[in-house]
Amino acid sequence: MRQPGRHFLQIPGPSAVPDRILQAIAMPVVDHRGPGFADLGHRVLSGIKTIFKTVQPVVIYPASGTGAWEAALVNTLSPGDKLLMVETGHFAYLWQQLALKLGLEPQLISTDWRGGADPALIEEALRQDSSHSIKAVCVVHNETSTGSTSQIAKVREAIDAAGHPALLLVDTISGLGSADFRFDEWGVDVAISGSQKGLMLPPGLSFNAVSEKALAANAKATLPNAYWQWRDMIEANQRGYFPYTPATNLLFGLAEAIDMLHEEGLDNVFARHKRHAAATRAAVESWGLEVQCTVDEEFSPVLTAVRVPDGTDADALRSVILEHCNTSLGNGLSKVQGKVFRIGHLGDFNDVMLLGTLAAIEMGLHLAQVPHQGGGTQAALDYLKSTS
Ligand SMILES: *Cc1c(COP(=O)(O)O)cnc(C)c1O
Repeated sequence: MRQPGRHFLQIPGPSAVPDRILQAIAMPVVDHRGPGFADLGHRVLSGIKTIFKTVQPVVIYPASGTGAWEAALVNTLSPGDKLLMVETGHFAYLWQQLALKLGLEPQLISTDWRGGADPALIEEALRQDSSHSIKAVCVVHNETSTGSTSQIAKVREAIDAAGHPALLLVDTISGLGSADFRFDEWGVDVAISGSQKGLMLPPGLSFNAVSEKALAANAKATLPNAYWQWRDMIEANQRGYFPYTPATNLLFGLAEAIDMLHEEGLDNVFARHKRHAAATRAAVESWGLEVQCTVDEEFSPVLTAVRVPDGTDADALRSVILEHCNTSLGNGLSKVQGKVFRIGHLGDFNDVMLLGTLAAIEMGLHLAQVPHQGGGTQAALDYLKSTS
């Protein structure tokens, strides 16, 4: 049946792509080896550094975020290397599975999936590794399955406090462009990101920002890598080109996205996301439901994962909301499947879109007969009014 009106794509990535970016992408394909291409190449390669807040090289792959996860590992590590990985949720778990498939040896710090990485546990694990067999610490900046962030600056402090030489690898696939991220200042060695979340682009691009220390590790790493190899990429990038065909039209979109983020101002973008997250939590609290993240300093500005009462099925609720309100919400992944639904409030998003989304959820809670109190949307509106 035809669904009138616009679809609300409120999953925590891909996020809705603004018209300005769609129009930037809708261009004739150009010759990626032609003389004019380097202008675009230089523009996106230097522009993306300002989003990562780095002066270091940022590699751009025509791939989903998972490819850039793999790239970060195969460029810096050797077969059998030990990693310290914090399982903050489903995405951290998937990264760990990928490391296993590559022949690496992850040592896990597990969590209850209700907050970020605990720097004290990282410090303790590194202190115990007196032989320095752990080669990298892997942390997810914004855990998209639970709506929790990890405090990356504190993770860096923990590594330094332990006096441990491990690299710090950070997945900011859903954080970049929505939550503050400071590659250089926080001492990150490899940051991994993707196009389809805070950067407001369609899926298809992913990134590795690379520190000096990661480049030095790269020179010694022996895991096989070809497509993902930084060296050839960075070498060609210096001239504004790529060693193989880049996703040309997505690069047009990326240039536009970088402009849009700076026109609004990165700090304003981050404040907007935080405010929408706070308004969302006000709604959840009024409904009498529970937010998955339990640590105040680690609430995600990107998405909110909401627990449904025992005996109710979050996926049935999402189906009702899709059918009646033309609104897509994120599902609970693996351990929390059916127990949580996820509200994406990231990317090109404003107060009215948030209120529409929350109204759809409140309708759904009623129609699906999920035990709750009304008034959540009103609570969010009150919060938005009081902070306008
Ligand atoms: C989306 C996401 C991924 C996976 O990225 P793909 O583009 O689907 O490969 C990995 N980590 C996090 C934190 C994500 O949000």
